[in-house]
Amino acid sequence: MTAAHDCIFCKIINGDIPSFKVFEDDKTIAFMDINPVNPGHILVVPKAHASNIFEIAPDDWAACMVNAQKVAKAVQQVLAPDGINIMQANGTGAGQSVFHVHVHVMPRQSGDDLKMNREYIPGDMEEIAQLAEKITTALLEQ
Ligand code: AMP
Ligand code: ZN
Repeated sequence: MTAAHDCIFCKIINGDIPSFKVFEDDKTIAFMDINPVNPGHILVVPKAHASNIFEIAPDDWAACMVNAQKVAKAVQQVLAPDGINIMQANGTGAGQSVFHVHVHVMPRQSGDDLKMNREYIPGDMEEIAQLAEKITTALLEQ
């Protein structure tokens, strides 16, 4: 990774900027989305930088999906939302805004009318921090 590499998720992975981390293994980390579509929105991210699904190594992609399942189970246990979407965007036309590949675990509420190309509205950081703790605990108990 060069100094010129300006990727916000690499900075989170390296601990250069803070995040509400809920899970980490050798290939991935998972942290709370700070602009959640609903409470409990989490991103699962490969540690190795790749821009999108075309670049990511298959074993890193597999690790993201395995861990997205673990995260979804923890979200289900803690929040019991009306539903959960697993979503991943490639390219601006698909609504991708951060060009380090990531898998969204998106809790849904009936009638939330979520759009795939959405506005980013900051969540309540206190609530995000509290949920991060609960979801981390649920993941440790799996
Ligand atoms: P996408 O639009 O699919 O590329 O998703 C990028 C996601 O990253 C959005 O849901 C943002 O809210 C989220 N995001 C951007 N910066 C941060 C950050 N520093 N910490 C947590 N989530 C972030
Ligand atoms: Zn990156």
